[in-house]
Amino acid sequence: MEPPLCTHCSKRKSFYFRRYSGEKLCQQCFTKNIEGLVWRYVKREQLFKEGERVALAISGGKDSYALAQVMRKIAKRFKLDLVAIFIDEGIGGYREEALQLVKRIAEIAEAPLYTSSFKEIFGMSLDEIHRKSMEKGLEFNMCTFCGTLRRRAINDLARELNASKVAVGHNLDDEAQTVFMNLIRGNLIRLAIRTVLYDKRSAGLIPRVKPLRNIPENEVALYAYLKGAQFYERECPYVRVSMRDEVRNILNTLEEKHPGVKFSIVRSADKLAALLKEHPAILERVKIRHCKNCGAPTTRELCRVCELFQALTAKLKT
Ligand code: SF4
Ligand code: ZN
Ligand code: ZN
Repeated sequence: MEPPLCTHCSKRKSFYFRRYSGEKLCQQCFTKNIEGLVWRYVKREQLFKEGERVALAISGGKDSYALAQVMRKIAKRFKLDLVAIFIDEGIGGYREEALQLVKRIAEIAEAPLYTSSFKEIFGMSLDEIHRKSMEKGLEFNMCTFCGTLRRRAINDLARELNASKVAVGHNLDDEAQTVFMNLIRGNLIRLAIRTVLYDKRSAGLIPRVKPLRNIPENEVALYAYLKGAQFYERECPYVRVSMRDEVRNILNTLEEKHPGVKFSIVRSADKLAALLKEHPAILERVKIRHCKNCGAPTTRELCRVCELFQALTAKLKT
């Protein structure tokens, strides 16, 4: 049976059925539509100011590829000064290949590439952290180290480069999963903090923006593929089944039965955050202080990076 015609142009055959809206899209209309959705979101939320320097945090995956594609166009319209940043965690046999893709992604964004590594910033690669903890028979979750150190490294590199925003490739699924995980953990405050922290540049935290936040993961991947992305097949050796994977499966099952549910989850969280953001408990939690150990901006007494390294060294001494 012939595929139906595209509901946007009524000329070409559709290749994608968007279940949450009922649209049937041809390839050209699909890519144009994704770029339009991102553009409208960026304008509505005023994500960028004309002329500002924006750091693109890229990892080499499909989300980074899609981010580079859409940001190149947005940068032209807003006259943004784009720089691309890549953090090498130091995971042998996994990251080397990504670096080649990262160079290509930076070229697509027409942005100079700046790189740094865990080794340069923290004195240890992720492999070394893993080795040290294994020597003592400790089972640290490497993803916890990796995520925390990467966030710090991206912030520090973006600050060194005088960027006023960091753009990351998080998509709708990432956002819905985070909301759901905060709910499961009973962490309402974290939901609100994420929006309030946006304005903390003066304290040394560079605001993070997510231009792909309204695009489902499968559409980001499809867009990247249609734009010629290469995907690398290797899996990180430290990946393990996490709560996020379980939540991903639950949300995908729900989305299958009730198309649009991921949007509703993120929208509900945004409404909640808007209501909670003036609450005294939230304002107290977003007070930026300086880590008593390393001086980095943080909402805690001891920043999370120092906390993790202290846990590692304390355990290593025993
Ligand atoms: Fe880092 Fe975990 Fe991702 Fe590997 S799977 S790159 S350790 S966050
Ligand atoms: Zn069409
Ligand atoms: Zn610290």
